[in-house]
Amino acid sequence: MTAPAETSIAGALAWARKRIPPNEARLLLRHICRASAAHLAAWPEEILPADQWESFQHIIGHRAAGEPVAYLLGEREFYGRTFQVNASVLIPRPETELLVELAVAHFGAAHRPKVLELGTGSGILAITLALELDQPEIVASDISRDALAVATSNALRFGVGIAFLWSDWYSLLKREDRFQLILSNPPYILENDPHLTQGDLRFEPLAALASGRDGLRGLSAIITGAGGHLDKGGWLFLEHGYNQAPLVRCLLADAGFERIASWKDMSGIERVSAGRWPG
Ligand code: GLN
Repeated sequence: MTAPAETSIAGALAWARKRIPPNEARLLLRHICRASAAHLAAWPEEILPADQWESFQHIIGHRAAGEPVAYLLGEREFYGRTFQVNASVLIPRPETELLVELAVAHFGAAHRPKVLELGTGSGILAITLALELDQPEIVASDISRDALAVATSNALRFGVGIAFLWSDWYSLLKREDRFQLILSNPPYILENDPHLTQGDLRFEPLAALASGRDGLRGLSAIITGAGGHLDKGGWLFLEHGYNQAPLVRCLLADAGFERIASWKDMSGIERVSAGRWPG
């Protein structure tokens, strides 16, 4: 169906609603017009400038083809703040806020805690902790240079100092680098999981989602290497898949961790497991 040469706000939204859900159409139109929701509601008859109408048709085409809203907007909210995202990073998920809550509760008022985040992606965890903890020293690594570019740009946006490191898990840390807390939301989906070919996941970096036949490759590497970089009494906190908590607890026990525990996300699913390095 061809689009009219010229249209109003209401006309553009009606056109888009035939292709994508109305709430998404409003979000994308606000993005293109840099307008508030109130403006769209108050001025339905306003004629869109030709370039905005054209951009809107273009972006709706991409959304109708399945591209995630977060990538089209170039941003996503996490823990009450808006972060830049693009197709080289995982889209922030609400369940990942559990890792922030646990790290904040763990440190309480502790001054200058030393934290390592592995696989930082867009940097949401490292940056949120930089803003929520008391002057922490944070190192955050990723194997993707493109992801580190996004993380660095987000850190600048929030004015926080984080030592970003291009590294395959611990490989480029110095042998003597030790932390009080290591945390990660690594890839943990099984590499042949059909979900990878559905919805938003089709457009996200596979390396940030899938991890070997059993989904445990990243989690095992992180757990096995953690003892070499944790202070005595330091903790490792890991996000994992909906059915992986018992396996991750076993891996933590095998690696020598103690006081192993898991926590549920807001959907009631065990989503984070942790252990304390003895000493
Ligand atoms: N929680 C994400 C999902 O299931 C996966 C994120 C990850 O692999 N770390 O869509």
